[in-house]
Amino acid sequence: STQEKTPQICVVGSGPAGFYTAQHLLKQHPQAHVDIYEKQPVPFGLVRFGVAPDHPEVKNVINTFTQTAHSGRCAFWGNVEVGRDVTVPELREAYHAVVLSYGAEDHRALEIPGEELPGVCSARAFVGWYNGLPENRELEPDLSYDTAVILGQGNVALDVARILLTPPEHLERTDITKAALGVLRQSRVKTVWLVGRRGPLQVAFTIKVPRPRKRLTELLLRTATEKPGPEEAARRASASRAWGLRFFRSPQQVLPSPDGRRAAGVRLAVTRLEGVGEATRAVPTGDMEDLPCGLVLSSVGYKSRPVDPSVPFDSKLGVIPNVEGRVMDVPGLYCSGWVKRGPTGVIATTMTDSFLTGQMLLQDLKAGLLPSGPRPGYAAIQALLSSRGVRPVSFSDWEKLDAEEVARGQGTGKPREKLVDPQEMLRLLGH
Ligand code: FAD
Repeated sequence: STQEKTPQICVVGSGPAGFYTAQHLLKQHPQAHVDIYEKQPVPFGLVRFGVAPDHPEVKNVINTFTQTAHSGRCAFWGNVEVGRDVTVPELREAYHAVVLSYGAEDHRALEIPGEELPGVCSARAFVGWYNGLPENRELEPDLSYDTAVILGQGNVALDVARILLTPPEHLERTDITKAALGVLRQSRVKTVWLVGRRGPLQVAFTIKVPRPRKRLTELLLRTATEKPGPEEAARRASASRAWGLRFFRSPQQVLPSPDGRRAAGVRLAVTRLEGVGEATRAVPTGDMEDLPCGLVLSSVGYKSRPVDPSVPFDSKLGVIPNVEGRVMDVPGLYCSGWVKRGPTGVIATTMTDSFLTGQMLLQDLKAGLLPSGPRPGYAAIQALLSSRGVRPVSFSDWEKLDAEEVARGQGTGKPREKLVDPQEMLRLLGH
């Protein structure tokens, strides 16, 4: 059949999930054509807007994604927000199959009193700010207080603590935004606490070694209990900044300053663990502790949003209900990445997961489960977008923006100075 010959497939989202899904489809099917739609004018999702600026090696995956985008059977269409500029039913009409890989764009709320006070912000917004995510570029967190409390103990919490405590001169040659660097240079933050409900055996950090849990526990124990050598002891004594983990503490309230105008601390309930194995839970002991601070960053997780009323969504788990990437009850619709599994796991996890979704789609194609007959693909969507005044950004457009960013970084020894204003990006492209 025609669809067996030239399946037209579209992927929504250009983070690791979108690109790895596309890569698998293009590699495993010699004729498949894949269009990737992205709401930002620029590609790569959290590789650009999440991964910390001082971890440049993690961003090397961009080279692989770029190769995929250069395939003659792949196209990137940025500046197109699915659910707003084009609907999922319209995409399903135009393509043989649609893969939703749009990640997790929201943050989980703490759901405690005082959360709305100035001085409280989500780690997600803070990360977006220092990485130049357009919607967070004007965040300007107030770093004029000496203590910051991060609620949560996952990898994102660690990234945020590190950025707050790293001497700004060590960030000068990264792709952190100029504005963020300016604010960090003025920072008075000296102490950062990372607060977790559970204990050292349950923290959600990951490390890059086999048997990570055992190794992580050993590392934590050694750091906490071993007496440092003379050099290390001297270094610690002279350090102007410090951080610490506070275990078995569950946030109850953000405490207001005396005038009620901003956050001045966090009230924590002391917890202990009950139950064993997977069923272990942190329960309050009844004791309370107040931790004074001027900045509260909530880092209790990212969360996916529903994209379109026609797509099933599990709002409790914050994922699209699916079986191995096949969206439940909607033939021809698939999902991969954080919107499929929930917002956990590193890029490598997302890769494995996306390859699996690609495999399921190709199995269905082979079994004749996808619509037969030709589909128009981008031609149909382009007409819709143009009638709605939406001008997509192609991959070669992105490469112009990329070159501009690299050029702007050169003077100051940065790998790039990110463009943070979508209007400016579109202007540079003559849109
Ligand atoms: P995303 O990367 O979020 O990509 C989703 C894409 O979809 C985005 O580009 C978004 O703009 C787009 N999109 C959203 N809605 C729409 C829409 N309606 N229409 C069109 N497009 C849309 N992993 C590591 O291995 N190493 C690290 O150092 C590391 N650091 C991290 C730091 C942070 C702060 C975070 C949050 C994560 C980090 N990760 C790291 C994890 C890694 O980023 C994720 O595993 C991975 O990005 C998930 O991929 P994804 O494609 O599902 O989501």
